[in-house]
Amino acid sequence: MRILTVHADFIEVDVKKPAIKQPEELVGTWPRKFEEVLVVFTAVEKGDENVLDTAAKLADETQNVANQLKCKNVLLHPWVHLTSGPSAPKVAQDVLLKAQEIIKDRGFNCDHSPFGWYKGFNIKSKGHPLSELSRQIGGFVEPSRKPKSGDVHTLNEVLYSVMLEEARTIGFAQDRNAYRITAALAFALMAKEKHPGSKLGLPQLTEDGFSMDVDFGRAISPKELPSLLADVQSVIKDQKVTQKLVKKKEAEELFAKNNEPYLLDLAKQMPEGTYLNVLCVDNICIPSYIAPLENLSKLKAIDFTGAGGAYWLNDSSKAQLQRIYGLSFPNSEQLKQFVEMKEKAKDRDHRKLGTQLDLFSLQPVAPGMAFFHPNGMVIRNEIENYLRELNQKHDYVEIRTPVIVDAEVWKESGHWDHYKENMYFTTIDGKLNGVKPMNCPGSIKVFKNSRKSYRDLPLRLSEFGLVHRHEYSGVLSGLFRVRAFTQDDSHVFCSQEQIEAEVERRVRYIDEFYDSFGFEYSLELSTRPPKRMGTDEQWNAAEGALKKALDKLGKEYKINEGDGAFYGPKIDYHIKDSLGRSWQCATEQLDFQMPLRFGVTFEDKDGKQKNPVILHSVAAGSIERFFAILVEHFEGKFPTWLAPVQAAVLTISDNQMPYAESVHKKLKSAGVRVTIETKSGTIGAKIRDWQMQRVPYMVIIGANEVESETISVRDRSGKETKDVDPDKFQKDLLKEISKRAK
Ligand code: ZN
Repeated sequence: MRILTVHADFIEVDVKKPAIKQPEELVGTWPRKFEEVLVVFTAVEKGDENVLDTAAKLADETQNVANQLKCKNVLLHPWVHLTSGPSAPKVAQDVLLKAQEIIKDRGFNCDHSPFGWYKGFNIKSKGHPLSELSRQIGGFVEPSRKPKSGDVHTLNEVLYSVMLEEARTIGFAQDRNAYRITAALAFALMAKEKHPGSKLGLPQLTEDGFSMDVDFGRAISPKELPSLLADVQSVIKDQKVTQKLVKKKEAEELFAKNNEPYLLDLAKQMPEGTYLNVLCVDNICIPSYIAPLENLSKLKAIDFTGAGGAYWLNDSSKAQLQRIYGLSFPNSEQLKQFVEMKEKAKDRDHRKLGTQLDLFSLQPVAPGMAFFHPNGMVIRNEIENYLRELNQKHDYVEIRTPVIVDAEVWKESGHWDHYKENMYFTTIDGKLNGVKPMNCPGSIKVFKNSRKSYRDLPLRLSEFGLVHRHEYSGVLSGLFRVRAFTQDDSHVFCSQEQIEAEVERRVRYIDEFYDSFGFEYSLELSTRPPKRMGTDEQWNAAEGALKKALDKLGKEYKINEGDGAFYGPKIDYHIKDSLGRSWQCATEQLDFQMPLRFGVTFEDKDGKQKNPVILHSVAAGSIERFFAILVEHFEGKFPTWLAPVQAAVLTISDNQMPYAESVHKKLKSAGVRVTIETKSGTIGAKIRDWQMQRVPYMVIIGANEVESETISVRDRSGKETKDVDPDKFQKDLLKEISKRAK
């Protein structure tokens, strides 16, 4: 659970209206004022289901703080906004009442604000250094940079995150990261058993698997990987994995006892009062905040993929350890499929092709933010221009909103509470501003800038919105996962009755878009989750509208019961690329919540102000990511309409240059992206170069062509056609481009 304590001169609590179906019965009169009081804002979270235990911890914490402040009055104030993962209301209410009982028993005056109500309050904080503390039960929390399981970190980030007190509920996971971290633990066990004298470093998740650092006292050659794998398999038996949170002192003792100098060094660097989460098997322990599997015997498919050196804590003045990279999957079939796919994808890796075709670069001066080169820009612009054409056809209008806006906007949107650690902030004229991680608030500001009536709906705002999200550096992956990207975002403001038609319009839009690239897709409809906002009536209408629109268009779709967001149901599109890989790109998300949150209204026919529904949708999703998918899907052999250079004019010798230049000039003025090869060299070499560049057409001119005023055309497959009339070639080419032929 999370708590925020405020030592206050007073707090005045007002009760507004029920927030849940069965709120606590009100006792006494409200608003009520509490003076000289320690206010404990509480949010009980998933995992806090052991009511007695949680209540006792809450009471302990409260008593601790109250004693330090010498404060005798306590108010427990349920405040669910402290968490994004609240427990069931019943659990939270039970914890609150039980804790109050315990605190009273310990000699404090303890009240609580009513549970299950929307409440307002005025508070005057005392403002001394101890007066405001935010905690997760168990210790201090650094709120601005909480690691999430599933993230991959650099060593420093691992160090940083393990130094945070990670007081989440200790549990076991079945997800892919659990297989990875448990395999790293198995490797550590093997190192200690089979290589006496070896010392453990840190485990990490990587893009595809995991790594584990160990000081073997010598370099490990990749040739040894098969025997290390056999060793690991030989130590895996029926061993329970345990995990525990240890205090700095306990961590120091543990690693000293285990004779682990590196981990001891880490423990010594932990600030006082912080905790470390460790995973253990037998007596071997490694720090990690990722939930492992509960038993080593669940590891069924491990492989090691590489070995290299790595400095302790990434510091080249420190000792060098050996880093082993590995994969871990729930079964060998999945491992095999992954390895095969990886092998196939190697040649078409967008990072490799991006360099070869000079499309873009990623540079250390801006990690996770791409530099688009002229060739890449051509493709990008073609994608965006096509989307603009679709906007025009399907009646969306384009807007552009600021990248940096007042932090107040992000408080209003909820990003401040739930997404702050992924945002960039900057201070301008003394005011805190946030760099937008999403475009929705901008669109809402445009909508709200003037009064709207039912006649203005549906309003379909579209934006190529540049967003920034601070992802951990370890998870960055080419253009697939970046920190700055542009979304082809649309926000449709409509009435409840218009949802079906709007969803249908959007499905047609996305259909057309994907079809142009030859992508097939499958659809998934996610419906109401157990915890949600909005009435059942609204949900029935919204889910019904989504289904009806899909049925009407004859679409097949899978239903994910209960997987919708708490603010509305959604449709996801999963596209399949030429390697059979699946990518989730487009979504259509209905939203009842944001219009309420931002007070978005329109005047309906009956003269009443009503909240519209917002349909958030993207077709390409992140343009950068979609671009990378296209590079790999086409293996760099873009359809002519997307190709940076559509035709290259080559001469057999310089004698043909004047005629070649006239052919080039004509094509260029017709709007073809054409280039003329002026480098000297054999025609064979020129053809090879342009083949490498994957140019759709080469126009080859020799003495015969000059003589007959024709051209030879060689396409990407190597097929050459002689005696082609240049005008006919130009006409066919323009037709192919304008049709966006695949
Ligand atoms: Zn949105």
